[in-house]
Amino acid sequence: MFDERRVQDRAAAPLASLGGIAPTHPYAAFLARVSKPGRDLGGEEQELRRPWEEALTCRMVLAFPDLYEIGMSHLGTRILYSLINKAPDLACERAFSPWADMEAELRARGLPLVSLENHRPLRDFDVVGVSLQYELSYTNVLLNLELGGIPLRARDRGDRDPIVIGGGPTATHPEPLAPFVDLFLVGEAEEVLPGLLRTIGGLRRAGASRAEVLAAAAKVPGIYVPEFYAVAVDPRSELEVVVGRTAAGIAAGAPERVERVWVRDLDAFPFPSEFPIPYAEAIFDRAAVEITRGCTEGCRFCQAGIIYRPVRERDPKAVIRAVLDGVDKAGFAETSLTALSTADVSCIDPLIKELVPALRERKVKLGVASLRAYGLGEELVDAIKSVGISGLTFAPEAGTQRMRDVINKNVSDDDILASARRIFERGYDRIKMYFIMGLPTETEADVVGIAETGHRVREVARAVTHEKGLPRLPQVTISVSQHVPKPHTPFQWAAMESIEDLYGKIDLLKGLARRYKLGLKTHAPRESWLECLFARGDRRMGEALELAYRAGARFDGWQEVFRFDRWLDALESAGIEPARYTRTIPVDARLPWDHLEVGLDPGFLAGEYRKALRGRASPPCGKPAGAQAHPTTVAAAEAESRRLVCYDCGIACDMSEMRSERVRALRELAEVRAEREGREASAAAAEAAEAAAEAAAVEAEAMGGAPGLVPVANLKARLRGLTGRSILAEDSAFKAAAEAPFSRVRILFTKEGTMAFMGHLDLLRVIPRMLRRAGYEAAFSRGFNPVPRMSFGPALPLGTAALEEVVEVDLLLPDSAEDMAGLWGPPERARVGAAIEARLREVAPPGLGIVRARVMGPGERRIGELIVAADYGVALSQAEVAEAASNLEARLDAGSLPVERAAVGRKGRGKPGSEAKVLDARAKILAARLDAEAGILHLRLRHGDDGGARPREVVEALIGSIVPDHRFCRERLLAEVDGRLVSIGEAGAVMRPPPRPREVVRVGEAEAEPGPS
Ligand code: SF4
Repeated sequence: MFDERRVQDRAAAPLASLGGIAPTHPYAAFLARVSKPGRDLGGEEQELRRPWEEALTCRMVLAFPDLYEIGMSHLGTRILYSLINKAPDLACERAFSPWADMEAELRARGLPLVSLENHRPLRDFDVVGVSLQYELSYTNVLLNLELGGIPLRARDRGDRDPIVIGGGPTATHPEPLAPFVDLFLVGEAEEVLPGLLRTIGGLRRAGASRAEVLAAAAKVPGIYVPEFYAVAVDPRSELEVVVGRTAAGIAAGAPERVERVWVRDLDAFPFPSEFPIPYAEAIFDRAAVEITRGCTEGCRFCQAGIIYRPVRERDPKAVIRAVLDGVDKAGFAETSLTALSTADVSCIDPLIKELVPALRERKVKLGVASLRAYGLGEELVDAIKSVGISGLTFAPEAGTQRMRDVINKNVSDDDILASARRIFERGYDRIKMYFIMGLPTETEADVVGIAETGHRVREVARAVTHEKGLPRLPQVTISVSQHVPKPHTPFQWAAMESIEDLYGKIDLLKGLARRYKLGLKTHAPRESWLECLFARGDRRMGEALELAYRAGARFDGWQEVFRFDRWLDALESAGIEPARYTRTIPVDARLPWDHLEVGLDPGFLAGEYRKALRGRASPPCGKPAGAQAHPTTVAAAEAESRRLVCYDCGIACDMSEMRSERVRALRELAEVRAEREGREASAAAAEAAEAAAEAAAVEAEAMGGAPGLVPVANLKARLRGLTGRSILAEDSAFKAAAEAPFSRVRILFTKEGTMAFMGHLDLLRVIPRMLRRAGYEAAFSRGFNPVPRMSFGPALPLGTAALEEVVEVDLLLPDSAEDMAGLWGPPERARVGAAIEARLREVAPPGLGIVRARVMGPGERRIGELIVAADYGVALSQAEVAEAASNLEARLDAGSLPVERAAVGRKGRGKPGSEAKVLDARAKILAARLDAEAGILHLRLRHGDDGGARPREVVEALIGSIVPDHRFCRERLLAEVDGRLVSIGEAGAVMRPPPRPREVVRVGEAEAEPGPS
């Protein structure tokens, strides 16, 4: 199916000389046609790529069943990618599900889904790893397998097909996927995965059969091989459950029940700070760091709170290192700390307080996920806000205290309102709260309670706005999802509420949100209903899955493409009665996930379920009864001697170890704090000495002082009026960077290969990241939402390479004050520019080549005022060269060259409501020359914002056929200097004309400026 020659662009050779995408990329010919080519390119910074020829024990591809931007935000993928690639004998590559446009291109050409690193079809790997994050990604699992050239059903795979491994939270209840996945890794992969890969790879290289490989894998802890287990329908639940091992399973030595594996010491697997930096914007485009795994709160609907027990915290020093390394190496503008419940991390308060000063210095925002409505001291709220976060998010989950007791959510109305007041008082402008509806025992009053909780929080916002005279009322949003009963939770036996009732509740909430002026976000009940079918599903659901997939189901978690009717048809054709999976299940029935043990004692979940139905809460474990937040100082933690709550759930935590680990973490943070305070004291002393020297210089000057001191003494006066004031709050980390003296630097760069597919918005992220990695601080804009101050040349079409692009950026250099004060001459500017150029070359991302960096002088014209034209090279095919050779002259001689552009109507290009437009391409052409031998058409085109013909349209008018953007290269941008067109690089400093003397004309007694002549 995969034939690289078929995808070679016929204009590949001239294209390569123009800096276009490498013609060996299997998707080169059509990348420019898909909506986001950045998803499929690979070759990002920090990508780890082992040459394909290298002899290794095992090659794995992590095939994430969702889009690139989702998968690249997934922490588990980051952890495993780094872990496996660190091993000298293993390699891990990445692949992501293609969106509909890319899938259509692949199918039309018979091309496979390939990995990003070596561009190999998935079927060429030893192992395909499938990340199972949630049930609505299952059709994408099939999509990746099929497009990767792997038979969908495990039973149809041969000895040379890869072994397909599923892992992640839904691997703890994976029966619907059992027909398609060879084995599941139940639990946390870090400790067992490298060994498992060596076992599989070693056997495959030794020529073992598929059956032999699976038999060996089944002996590895945490591994479940479905084909070694027999199933039958349980009469109580009417669900298909595992009833024992098959003969092959017994012969292979597969365990009767598979126990979840988990990592005892998270610090043995430090959080990776290097991971490919996404080109296309990741959903969470930041350096996120996992600070804990597990949770002590025991929310009864939450599967993660059970299957990641016990709670384990990472060493705080290692967390700080991982955050700062992640930021410094990748250059992200935002970072975040992730945990199931951040507020319950024992040292979260001092940890954030230690991180914030370092992040403030770097102008990096800190996001804190999964906060609770307690434990948010004023200092902490201030610290988070000072690094640019203006809204906070909580998850009260339920709107009434009764319901919060049912679900075991350890927050009260008072906690919520007190936190809201504290947050609004500190100047945050929005709060978002997450709720769940359709929970067991829920009544209408509980649904109304959701909106009323939002209303009470808004009332707090209103009161604070009034008291503090805030300029605008903070925004309150409630986000409401549906409860899906999940395996391995106390609610695993509870019914899923009907779709009709859920829609009724959403309508109720919509009315209340309107009345209370709340923002409201809801989820689609039909999707949640389907999620329930797969969450509690058995192997029979696999049939419906394949039918729906064959009928076109993909990306079922994406509302815009979800089609419910397709699923209803598939369920009916598979003979599945959906109610079997959504109704209440008897507590004593056998379940499709009973053979997978997550480590709980029998009876623990049922006991919690019964307590829930009686409305009785179980206070969090691992804390003293009645306590919410953990002690924040070493002394308080050492003095804490109350017994810690434990329900003996089966995980067998060591409570004294838990206690001493917390004290240890706080001690470490106290050390970090002492070091920081020491550094700050030295810096303050140095600053004071500098100020004293400056004062002395001023005094000396006043006394008629020594020559040479005058410029320093006069610096502040010279800068007056040049730096500008911002509207940012005094405590904003960005205020100084918005108002400080800066140097304006013009950077010329190339945009080649895969970088040509980075759009203008991508560059807005790529350039600041590069500057941060280089250690340069950008000046920030002075509005409410500060961003690095940059201006670019005219935007390029996606796919078009460029050999001399330009960006001007304001940098806060150590001596920028002297520069701004006019004390730098050409030698200083040249020296500093050369240093910047050299440093940027070291850190520029692949495909972005630094041509030159130059510090601009006062009075120079900005890039936006200079560019009047551009030179382009266009790679032509042989037929196009022939066409151009015979007609170019005549067409250039024509007075006009009309070309038609289909206008984009409201419903899209060429759709109703749009009107075609005829443009004159000739008006754009300054010069054109064909280099028939090289196959390149050279064009010099006028530039302007006049809506005239685009370069592609000019070429269409000249040669009569459409040449895609990725065969264009903008060779240089041109400025007009002394009546000549010169490239921006050659133009150097072009000065603004001196201002004309202001003429004043006396009209009688009044003064007036002269009007336009
Ligand atoms: S053993 Fe006790 S402290 Fe540990 S997770 Fe279970 S209930 Fe909580």
